[in-house]
Amino acid sequence: MEKVLKIGIIGCGAIGKDHCRRIIETVPGATVVAVSDYVAAAADDTAAKYGIKSYGNDCDGMIKDPEVEAVVITSIDPTHHDYVMKTLAEEKWCFCEKPLSQNAADCEDIIKREQEIGKRLVQVGFMRHYDRGYAEMKRIIDSGELGAPLMIHACHRNVSQPDGFQTEMGVSNVAIHELDICRWLLGDEYKSGQVLKVRQSACSTKGYDNPQIVLLETQSGARIDVEVQVADAYGYDIQCQVVCEKGTVNLPDPYAVVKRSNATRSFPILTDWKDRFIEAYDIELTHWVKTLEEKGEPDGPSAWDGYAACVAADTLNRSRGTNQFLPIEMMDKPALYK
Ligand code: NAP
Repeated sequence: MEKVLKIGIIGCGAIGKDHCRRIIETVPGATVVAVSDYVAAAADDTAAKYGIKSYGNDCDGMIKDPEVEAVVITSIDPTHHDYVMKTLAEEKWCFCEKPLSQNAADCEDIIKREQEIGKRLVQVGFMRHYDRGYAEMKRIIDSGELGAPLMIHACHRNVSQPDGFQTEMGVSNVAIHELDICRWLLGDEYKSGQVLKVRQSACSTKGYDNPQIVLLETQSGARIDVEVQVADAYGYDIQCQVVCEKGTVNLPDPYAVVKRSNATRSFPILTDWKDRFIEAYDIELTHWVKTLEEKGEPDGPSAWDGYAACVAADTLNRSRGTNQFLPIEMMDKPALYK
């Protein structure tokens, strides 16, 4: 009989519900056996939909349940560090949505604990590694056919943000995807960075900076600019161009039928991240389950990758208003992640 990985999910909000459906309906070799959420009713509703166990708001109890072999953390950012540490205390596999923690110091705790255990148990939800567009860009860059990568121009545009959104989250929650994917595409670490506030958009009325521009320099001297708009009023639009010595590679737009009418050629732009990266999330979780089954540990984005993105985010947020590039300083990479 096929082995089925039994998963518990913490956080039954937007992505928690989506991952629950995905694991139950789409991912082979895994199922969700229990859910929990800060608000017990949210867990109860999701559990009732699939006929699985609700731990209500007893997230810690769910982590300890002997039936739960792996924990998926989809609660809000400030809770990630604690739940990852509690999952590691049980020496269970842990898939934690981005960001790994609120800051680099908390990621260091996780790295230290994984080293004590002596194997990787954590994977971070940087699903862009599994997006076909980014994967093909990386393949071309790594092949060397275009020479060395020199620059990246990227943008991350979102329709709107929930209440409580703050300027710092434009980096630590939103652009964290670019902080991860740019170092992955280039196979390089960051040397310095700064955030600039530019002319502000009238689309944001809730007191946070919008847009912001993130500027980075890598160890090899490549330069990166990322436009971060968290309220753009038109769509969820992710773009990335890597400029190499002998050519460029561009992230493709998602599949869309081109319509010709009224003397216009057009195609729709998605508005929801769940739709934009739906295939990447499916591949990500399918790959995660398969590698746990085959290798006993994950091989996707690691706690080290989560840490690297948080070090950059911390530095960028410290640079705001200084008008200076600040050094991005990381600890030495432990052998576990080499
Ligand atoms: P969300 O809709 O607000 O869902 C978060 C859920 O966690 C809510 O039900 C929330 O309850 C619950 N929660 C709050 N505090 C908790 C606690 N202490 N313990 C357990 N549950 C708690 O947010 P979301 O959009 O799903 O995002 C969840 C996480 O996934 C975030 O960290 C986000 O960065 C990440 N994410 C990643 C991607 C990606 O592309 N990889 C996309 C979206 C989100 P309340 O409603 O009562 O607060």
